[in-house]
Amino acid sequence: MDSTRAVINLKALRHNLQILQRTAPQSQIIAVIKANAYGHGIVKVAQTLQHVHAFAVARLSEALTLRSTGIHNPIILLGGFFNGSDLTTLAAKDLQCVVHSQEQVAAIMQAKLPVPLKIWLKLDTGMHRLGFHPEQFDAVYKCLMDSENVQKPIDLLTHFHSADEVNNNATAQQLSIFQQHIQTSSGLKSLANSAAVFAWPETHFDAVRPGIALYGISPFADISARDLQLRPVMTLKSVLIAVRDHKAGENVGYGTHWTARNDTRIGVVAMGYGDGYPRLAPEGTPVLVNGRIVPLVGRVSMDMLTVDLGLGDQDKVGDDVTLWGEGLPAERVAQKIGTIAYELVTKLTSRVTLHYQE
Ligand SMILES: *Cc1c(COP(=O)(O)O)cnc(C)c1O
Repeated sequence: MDSTRAVINLKALRHNLQILQRTAPQSQIIAVIKANAYGHGIVKVAQTLQHVHAFAVARLSEALTLRSTGIHNPIILLGGFFNGSDLTTLAAKDLQCVVHSQEQVAAIMQAKLPVPLKIWLKLDTGMHRLGFHPEQFDAVYKCLMDSENVQKPIDLLTHFHSADEVNNNATAQQLSIFQQHIQTSSGLKSLANSAAVFAWPETHFDAVRPGIALYGISPFADISARDLQLRPVMTLKSVLIAVRDHKAGENVGYGTHWTARNDTRIGVVAMGYGDGYPRLAPEGTPVLVNGRIVPLVGRVSMDMLTVDLGLGDQDKVGDDVTLWGEGLPAERVAQKIGTIAYELVTKLTSRVTLHYQE
C-alpha cells in the first residue's frame, strides 16, 4: 500500500447522504460531485451514490467521464456549456445544463439539435456571479419556453452567497427574490447548497444541491461536522519516515524561521506540497500522530513535512500519520492555514492514491 494515501470511507459517504436526505425529507438530492467529487474520486463516489436524483458537475469533461463509466443518472452542468459547439454533445449524452447568460440563450436558439435540451434556468438573486438579473429573467424564460430546442418544463435554480452565516438575512432576501420569479413555472426548483440544507429549511423546495456535506465536512465556521452528525469521508494519511533527536536552538528544513526552544524529537512525514498539502501551513498546524495532535514545525517542502513530537519515545519510523480526516477534522486544519476544507480536499495531487473502504 502506498504510504501517502487518502482513505475514502464509502460507508461514511452513504451515511452523510442519509443525514442530508433526513434533513430535507421532501426534496430530491442533486449530489454535487464537481472537481473529482471534491477530490474523493468522481466515479466511485457516483457509483456509491447511485440512488440520488441527479449529479451535478462543473465541466463537460466531468460529465463525459461519468457517462463513459456507465452512470445513467441525470447529470447537470452547473456552469452550462462554454461553447455553442458543445450543444450537440449535451444532447447526444443526455446532459442537462444550467443556462445563465444571453450568449448561451442565443446559441441554444440557433442550434440544430436532434433532441431538445433539458435546461435549468439560473436566476441571479444576489451572488452576482452567474445567472440572469431579476429584470431580465421573465423575458428570457418566455423566450426559452417558445424554443423547440428546449424541453419543457424548464427547471429553475439560484445559488446562495452566505447560507453558511446563519444570522445573515441575505439568504432570506435571495429566497424572496427567487419566489417572485418562479410562479409561472411548473419545473423543479432548486436553491440549497449544503449550508442551506441545514440552516434554511424554507429553501429546500424540490431539489437540494449538497456538495461538501456529503464528504462529511461542515459548511459552517462554528458548527462542527460532528454536531451535524456528519462523518469525514476522506482521511489523508502518511507515515513517519524519520524520527530524530533535535537539540534546542537547531532549525529544521528550508530556511531558519523555526528553531527548537527545547530539546525535542522531530518526526519527518512523507507528505508535502507535491502531494497537495499546502506549503503555507504555518507552525502549529495540527497533525495526528499515534492518537495525539502534534504541531507542524518548519516549512512544508515538496515531499516532506516535519512535526515536533516532543520528548519521549512513543513514535517510530513507519508509524501512521493523519493529516486530516478521522480524528482530525479537515476544517480544523484549514482554519489554521487560513483556508477552507473545500480547498484542502480538492487540491490533492495525483501522487496521492485513493483507497476505498466499503
Ligand atoms: C458547488 C455548488 C454547490 C454545492 O455547494 P456546497 O457548499 O459544497 O454544498 C451547489 N450549487 C452550486 C451551483 C455549486 O456551484
